[in-house]
Amino acid sequence: MIHHTCFKCKRRFELDPVFVGFELSKLKKKNPSHYQAVCPACRSINKVSVEQMQADLDQVADEIQQMIADYEAQKAAAKTEKKAKTKTGKKADTKSPKSRSRKRLKA
Ligand SMILES: [Zn+2]
Repeated sequence: MIHHTCFKCKRRFELDPVFVGFELSKLKKKNPSHYQAVCPACRSINKVSVEQMQADLDQVADEIQQMIADYEAQKAAAKTEKKAKTKTGKKADTKSPKSRSRKRLKA
């Protein structure tokens, strides 16, 4: 886990490197230098340097790739579904792909 201290309220919170890597991959930027983390306590956007998290991201590179692949597959499926029905019933829930059970403790 990546630990970060909110610049505003000084609360410490954790970032899942898999989720961070996934979010970064979704950005249009090729080499984003910062990740925008939202503080769970005060909702401030904290810019976290990617460089600072690189080691953590590298460690879970496979999982990030897997998550991106899952996301792409889901997106493709949603697209097909959308084509099939012309109605826009439900949007694919891509907002919180956090449900993966990762219980890895890092010192
Ligand atoms: Zn905060």
